[in-house]
Amino acid sequence: MTIINNLIYWHNHNKDEKKKILSRPIFLIDKKIKNNVTNILNQVKKKGDNALKKYNLLFDKIKIDNLKINTEKINNAKFYIDKNIKNAIQSAYNNIYKFHKYQIFKKKIIEIIPGVFCKQIYRPIPKVGLYVPGGTSSLFSTVLMLGIPAQLALCPEIILCSPAPISNEILFAAYLCNIKNIFQVGGAHAIAAMAFGTESINRVNKIFGPGNFFVTEAKKQVSNQNKIYSNISIDMPAGPSELIILADNTANYNFIIADLLSQAEHGIDSQVFLITTEEKIAKLVQKGLSQQLEKLPKKNIAKKSISNSHIIIVKNIEECIKIINKYAPEHLIIQCHNYEKILSKIINAGSIFLGHWTPESVGDYASGTNHVLPTYGYALTYSGLGISDFQKRMYVQKLTKKGLLNISHTVEIMAKTENLLGHSNSITIRKNFINKNFFHQKKKINNINKIARKNIINLIPYKSARSLYKSDMKHSILLNANESPITSYFTLNKKIFNKYPEPQSKELINMYSRYVNLSTENILITRGADEGIDIIMRTFCNQRHDKILFCPPTYDMYRVTAEILDIKYIMINSIDNWELNLDKIKKNLNNVKIIYICNPNNPTGNSININNIIKLLELTKNKIIIVIDEAYIEFCINQSLTYLINKYQNLIILRTLSKAFALAGLRCGFILTNKNIINILIKVIAPYPIPDPVIDIAIQALNLKNLIIMKNNVKIIINNKKWLINNLNNCPCIKTIFNSKTNFILIKFNNSNNIFNMLNKKKIIVRNQNHEKKLHNCLRITVGTFYECKKLFFELKKLS
Ligand SMILES: *Cc1c(COP(=O)(O)O)cnc(C)c1O
Repeated sequence: MTIINNLIYWHNHNKDEKKKILSRPIFLIDKKIKNNVTNILNQVKKKGDNALKKYNLLFDKIKIDNLKINTEKINNAKFYIDKNIKNAIQSAYNNIYKFHKYQIFKKKIIEIIPGVFCKQIYRPIPKVGLYVPGGTSSLFSTVLMLGIPAQLALCPEIILCSPAPISNEILFAAYLCNIKNIFQVGGAHAIAAMAFGTESINRVNKIFGPGNFFVTEAKKQVSNQNKIYSNISIDMPAGPSELIILADNTANYNFIIADLLSQAEHGIDSQVFLITTEEKIAKLVQKGLSQQLEKLPKKNIAKKSISNSHIIIVKNIEECIKIINKYAPEHLIIQCHNYEKILSKIINAGSIFLGHWTPESVGDYASGTNHVLPTYGYALTYSGLGISDFQKRMYVQKLTKKGLLNISHTVEIMAKTENLLGHSNSITIRKNFINKNFFHQKKKINNINKIARKNIINLIPYKSARSLYKSDMKHSILLNANESPITSYFTLNKKIFNKYPEPQSKELINMYSRYVNLSTENILITRGADEGIDIIMRTFCNQRHDKILFCPPTYDMYRVTAEILDIKYIMINSIDNWELNLDKIKKNLNNVKIIYICNPNNPTGNSININNIIKLLELTKNKIIIVIDEAYIEFCINQSLTYLINKYQNLIILRTLSKAFALAGLRCGFILTNKNIINILIKVIAPYPIPDPVIDIAIQALNLKNLIIMKNNVKIIINNKKWLINNLNNCPCIKTIFNSKTNFILIKFNNSNNIFNMLNKKKIIVRNQNHEKKLHNCLRITVGTFYECKKLFFELKKLS
């Protein structure tokens, strides 16, 4: 015998028949039940606990003196249940907790327009009542589904009611959810108790949980806003359980049967559907149902509810989806191979189970999602139970003066148009106050910010040593800018300046070409190496799209220039010995046009492994420009890469007269690269970048005699550095002296801020790197004259 007699061929039915097939069983709650419930509510309202006890005796045949379960009994419940059940409840608790925890809203303040800040905050509903049905089976899973979101929502008072006798499983689940107020009372009178309060049960603000006709009717009545009992909310309208299974030709019919029955055994009014494109599967399910059914202890219930149910055969999956969205089932199992694609088209369903390995039972108990779900078509507008049902949202906003001014016009106009002058006045009165008292000075500044580019307003500018330390230059020892301590004297040969200078002085290029041993075609003069950094970026990078790459800790001008030019940058930190992280660089070359490498590096002082640079040049051939910033190269001249310029078409070297040449005040630098790059850079550089006096003095600095003096000065500074390092090695306040190939030393102290301030007091000015990433407690100290080195050592020794 089959329990479902007819298979439904969807396309054979007309509109009205289809509607009828998808209709739900109608419950006419008759007037008598309604009146009974009203009566019970009134009795409980009037007589409190006495009424509850009377109804307990009447309906549940139990006489109870103490409605409330004492704490000891709750705490001890775990000792009275089977260990396996206890463990199962505990793991279900963990899973459900884990899922629901992600529903906690993150706080976020949104600046809607400048000065107008809005946010949402969440507060728990203060008092909540959880109803857990008793009867034939003890639904401790429901305790978890209601208790966990209440617990996570931080509801301060949670009350649980369930018909007596309450099982130890329910008590243990409640114990896990930290529920302390548990009452042995069930049915409509329990709902009444929570809605109105009695001597022993406090009234609550919202009632949650499933139940039979009486419970559902009671919830409906107490939440009915038209009645006298107002201000009670309920979780959602309750109805019988439902399931649709959608199956394609990959589905296993035995799985389908098992799932249909698992839902059908809930109650005689449950409704289950199989919708499938496969006639074969439909027939197998129809045939096999009775066999599996016979094995269930609740077969009589299942048999009845299956008789309300249908197997529907449709032409294609699209049609299945239409039916599902129309019916809006509580549960939906998609036993199809392309379930993700189908899911994207499902718009109405309470809880959805994907694929062949996801029976609905896992969601009923332990996978993590909530099993309190909208039924009876309410999935159209309602959601499954979650933390937000135990909370309410509050809106918060705050305006600054500027914010109020920014929004004032909009609100004033709207309020005036709606003829609500009181509203607009609350704006106008403040606006006038602000305009009168603050606006005048502020307005000018704000307007400039409006005109300026946004990334300039937000830019952290380069902090030059001079701008950081302005006072008393003459009487201080300045070891903060890597300048040469040795002065040489120059006088101008040129005396008249009425004409523009030569854009690229041939004579100066000749002199530098002899010095670096490169052809004159390979040289471009710039206003310091800084100008080189800038024009290379402007020549090769498109704004907002292309990137430069550099390796902190390094010279900050690469970042600053990129930000000013609105060019993206990517920073690949150097590894432990300040060496390039080649592997990581390789992986991050998307859209990179230029890599800036400072060699030897500022502020760390080390030189970069030449093999690594060559590897990088090879790797980036024809794709990416490699800029080697050799600002300090004279202090380790054998590391220079000028000899590679004709080998690698993508190599650019930056040089300067500011460091070893002791001409920081001159602002003169050089770009060394191949002819093609020079020709393109020349289009971008300013028309007359190098002033005549600069050309004049640079030429002198590069004559043979001065080159010998420069090289000699480099030796002196290197010797001073050696002396300093040797002596500082024993200072207890020092942790590490980093290896230096330059005219400065990076030193890690125990407390660099203290040392910095103390040296400052003694008028020795060094550069604090403490704020830089990876340079915690580090100072960068320029090597000065021998006298300055001794003085520095003397002060540091005193400190120790
Ligand atoms: C000092 C310095 C520069 C700037 O050189 P100028 O020629 O003075 O502009 C460039 N790069 C590094 C690494 C520096 O330390």
